[in-house]
Amino acid sequence: MKSFDVVVVGGGPGGYIAAIRAAQLGLSTACIDDWRGADGKPALGGTCTNVGCIPSKALLQSSENFEQAGHHFAEHGVKVKGLELDLAQMMKRKDKVVKSNNDGIVYLFKKNKITFFHGTGSFGKSPSEIMVGDETLQAGHVIVATGSKPRALPGAEFDEKLILSNTGALAMGEVPRRLGVIGAGIIGLEMGSVWRRLGAEVTILEALPAFLGIADEAVAKEAAKVFARQGLKIELGVKITSVENKKSVKVQYTASDTSSKTLECDQLIVSIGRVPNTDGLNSAGVGLKLDQRGFIAVDDDCRTNLPNVWAIGDVVRGPMLAHKAEEEGVVVAERIAGQKPHLDFNTIPSVIYTSPEIAWVGKTEQQLKAEGLAYRAGVFPFSANARARALGDTAGLVKFLAAEKTDEILGVHIIGPFAGELIAEAVVAMEFRASAEDIGMICHAHPSLSEAMKDAALGVDKRSLNI
Ligand code: FAD
Repeated sequence: MKSFDVVVVGGGPGGYIAAIRAAQLGLSTACIDDWRGADGKPALGGTCTNVGCIPSKALLQSSENFEQAGHHFAEHGVKVKGLELDLAQMMKRKDKVVKSNNDGIVYLFKKNKITFFHGTGSFGKSPSEIMVGDETLQAGHVIVATGSKPRALPGAEFDEKLILSNTGALAMGEVPRRLGVIGAGIIGLEMGSVWRRLGAEVTILEALPAFLGIADEAVAKEAAKVFARQGLKIELGVKITSVENKKSVKVQYTASDTSSKTLECDQLIVSIGRVPNTDGLNSAGVGLKLDQRGFIAVDDDCRTNLPNVWAIGDVVRGPMLAHKAEEEGVVVAERIAGQKPHLDFNTIPSVIYTSPEIAWVGKTEQQLKAEGLAYRAGVFPFSANARARALGDTAGLVKFLAAEKTDEILGVHIIGPFAGELIAEAVVAMEFRASAEDIGMICHAHPSLSEAMKDAALGVDKRSLNI
């Protein structure tokens, strides 16, 4: 029997980062992962690397290039003749990007002397015994990082041909003429954007009555306007009554005005959320407690009900984000090593990589109102930012929310170019408990998009300089 200080089950961003941090801290570490790539070989990196963050961002970039060349280059005086889509090459590039990330993790495991086992890890006779293939590992601590899988719509199981999860949505062989998407969340919007840019007529059906309810209302309103202009059709407040898939897909639904409607499409992406993945773990066998929704129950420190068993990432409560999984992985490894790290869930940023990008951190205005917190807001539109004008990318805004009395930043919301990069400044500011005035006093390069951050921060005190 092999013994390790730490055995990590799952090699996604939660698991592989936890393993690296544990190894850095001098703990003997093993990581077990069962993913196989399209070539049938082990492919470390989990959902994020193989069928999530990485391939989606590769296709978002490629499809945006196609859209820019087709519709926006001319405005810059760049004429393109004979523009053609080579989807096979686009997919090949995406696969290459994924592979280089898989290989990067293998390199990091070797560098940090992490023992990798390919296969399904499950608890054995006790919580400190982990079985993989015909090996039994003795673990001082176990970190469960088994992630999540797509939620299927009842009556419309994924076949990855007509009814697609994220896996099929990232690997289509041709552009569908009519694409249906169920769910206008982050994944639905990103996937819908990719295929719309490549020529599909995209209709997104969403059950909730409000668009992007998780985002600040000002941002959601702006996003709805821009996406409609781009030709993304989004219907809110619908109730799906049936899905029929033969040669094409027919979705019957009740619209928000209670009328019965049918959406006929060539392919349908179902992106209605993800469910925790505890299959094959033998959690019941060792008494590992799950919560009512099937997530592994953990406290704020990611401790489960079993001694020395921890759980992180998508398989536990909280936002299903790769960087949240990573941070939990680091924090748990450090706790195992006897350190006392802290993770502030309020400063975990969210990003939607549509065009324009959407990013936020902290509280939305709706949340502040609901919690009765007194605040002031500063809003600055990218149309008044010199760099955005030079880029030709002026849709969107930055919004700062700060405590009325102390001016401490409570939330920052961005829709606009490179919002996913700009949000980092807000995260740093909030981690250091900065005030809006602090950001307003810092020199930002000119002309830069980050000046919109400064101007919005100054706007909290009604003294933006450029509007
Ligand atoms: P996972 O990445 O799911 O990894 C879990 C791993 O454990 C998998 O390899 C799985 O096969 C393996 N496993 C499961 N059970 C066992 C077992 N018993 N034994 C061995 N191995 C096992 N998040 C972002 O932050 N930014 C984004 O841009 C983003 N884009 C996304 C786009 C899409 C299309 C999707 C689907 C998701 C996206 N996400 C994004 C979410 C992100 O992918 C997840 O939050 C993240 O992957 C969670 O990491 P994890 O380590 O908890 O689990």
